[in-house]
Amino acid sequence: MGLIVQKYGGTSVGSPDRIRAVAERVARTRGEGHDVVVVVSAMAGETNRLLALGRELAAAPDAREMDALVATGEQVSSALLSITLNAAGTPARSLLGHQVRMRTDGAFTKARIQTIDDASLREVLDRGRVAVVAGFQGVDAAGNITTLGRGGSDTSAVALAAALEADVCEIYTDVDGVYTADPRICPDARKVDRISYEEMLELASLGAKVLQIRSVEVAMKFGVPIHVRSSFSDAEGTVVTREDDALESVVVAGVTKNDDEARVIVRGVIDQPGLAASIFEALAADNISVDMIIQNVSEDGRTDVTFTVADGEAEQAREIVEGALASSQRGAILLDRDVCKVSIVGLGMRSHAGVAAKMFRLLAEAGVNIQAISTSEIKVSCLIDAGQGVDAVRALHTGFSLGHPQ
Ligand code: ADP
Ligand code: ASP
Ligand code: MG
Repeated sequence: MGLIVQKYGGTSVGSPDRIRAVAERVARTRGEGHDVVVVVSAMAGETNRLLALGRELAAAPDAREMDALVATGEQVSSALLSITLNAAGTPARSLLGHQVRMRTDGAFTKARIQTIDDASLREVLDRGRVAVVAGFQGVDAAGNITTLGRGGSDTSAVALAAALEADVCEIYTDVDGVYTADPRICPDARKVDRISYEEMLELASLGAKVLQIRSVEVAMKFGVPIHVRSSFSDAEGTVVTREDDALESVVVAGVTKNDDEARVIVRGVIDQPGLAASIFEALAADNISVDMIIQNVSEDGRTDVTFTVADGEAEQAREIVEGALASSQRGAILLDRDVCKVSIVGLGMRSHAGVAAKMFRLLAEAGVNIQAISTSEIKVSCLIDAGQGVDAVRALHTGFSLGHPQ
């Protein structure tokens, strides 16, 4: 007898039939003697539909109202699941973000959870009911509805599991675990049985959207075991856990691609102390995260500085650099949005030499030119032409022998 948090993604609650299947699984888990807290996403496609509606009515819609709008998706699915559970004889209650006192900061559309008061949830469980919580949403200090960023109901679920000290946080989705690459890109990708928080965090950060980045951070911080699995089958999925001896430390655990990248090239920057500081301080002041940075060798006292940012922030980044450096200090500022980043991730890289070199060789053999490189202890990333992203992922996946043997 324990406490289990189960999160169901959009596809898993995408239709009345799917909701019935979820209700059956919840009832089964409860029948095994566990307390169950369910977290739901909006029905598949609903968040996109709502965002499009808001954007149709205003070029730059108010962020507070957009959060009030999109949060309705999860209100609908939590109520529908509770209706289904109650009708089938499993007592349940839906709860919205403010009702579980999911307190966040006030950063609309990308709020961060600050505290959760578990009293209302405990009360529901103590009465023998299933709590069905609307994921993705919270409430700020002023009582405004906030949302946690795309994919945020993963984070709602893990944060609730941490607050309630649940035995496990099960993430039910449309794949049966974490794969060596996005199975939509590599049909021969393999399911991984166990993976460390560190590797999962890199995979999520570098483009594997199966878990929201923040959810892995919270799980790692509080030691919440995550089990990613399919709502369409009973197969064991992938357990995300602390690194331990039982974890095989493979050299490359997975390959990812991130399309949300853009390159900003600042030409002819006067090469003198303080110029990099001026550029990157100005970007940081406006909360723009910079990923890769390259500075060329200077020629005649001038150099080129290239950096990458999220595609949606590229225009803003260009304007900020324009404002930060007087035109006498630099030449033209160019934007290249036609890029993507491919990465390999694995704990075993710490102790294996030559992994990066092998990645560059595999990309070369696939005819892919590398525009920028960044590395950490457990990953190597290359910025490449967007049009070659899929071929590059497949070449790396095959080259590092990650697929099913044919
Ligand atoms: P949900 O709506 O359940 O939250 P998501 O669409 O957010 O589902 O996440 C699941 C999807 O993540 C899968 O359908 C898959 O295409 C994609 N994905 C990307 N990389 C991976 C990976 N390495 N392993 C598994 N799934 C991945
Ligand atoms: N419904 C939200 C989204 O589509 C949150 C989630 O699915 O986790 O991003
Ligand atoms: Mg998701």
